[in-house]
Amino acid sequence: MTRLIFLGAPGAGKGTQAHKLAELRNIPHISTGDMLRQARRERTPLGIQAQSYIDRGELVPDELVQEMVQERLSQPDAQSGWILDGFPRNEAQVDFLDKLLQTLAQNSGSSATVLHRAVNLEVPDEVVITRLLGRAKNEGRTDDNEEVIRRRLEIYHQETAPLINLYRHRQRSYL
Ligand code: AMP
Repeated sequence: MTRLIFLGAPGAGKGTQAHKLAELRNIPHISTGDMLRQARRERTPLGIQAQSYIDRGELVPDELVQEMVQERLSQPDAQSGWILDGFPRNEAQVDFLDKLLQTLAQNSGSSATVLHRAVNLEVPDEVVITRLLGRAKNEGRTDDNEEVIRRRLEIYHQETAPLINLYRHRQRSYL
């Protein structure tokens, strides 16, 4: 059983590393960014609501993302572990994940450790900006233009980077 979360700035390589590790462990790689982009492409109600936030580089409202994560982690293939990439992104999402994992553990009658590790990929801002601008050309993502990239990084530093210390202090209890 492996349950991991990947922290790190946009463009740090979370998706690539999470994908490789998930394949090795044979567990799902759950990327909230990928799920939101898919919902957006399919024009589901969630996708339509999320679209303007994604395009501006803002966080999609917690309630929307949380509901999506709750549903995904309740699927049968997520019962033997997972790698969460891009969630949690702020303290409210950390609290939500804590509670969700407790509930899922209770429902399955398991007393297993809820989360095993938080992995942080640290890459300097200038490197991720260059990478993301390159990705914009190759993948055509609507949120990979310079202005939006800078906004995503700003939000990362404000909201997500503080989670590194929060999980660092907890890490001992995951072992
Ligand atoms: P990512 O691919 O993880 O960089 O996510 C792309 C965009 O999806 C972000 O800029 C947000 O607009 C949205 N997003 C992804 N994950 C979350 C999350 N956990 N909370 C809020 N918004 C998110």
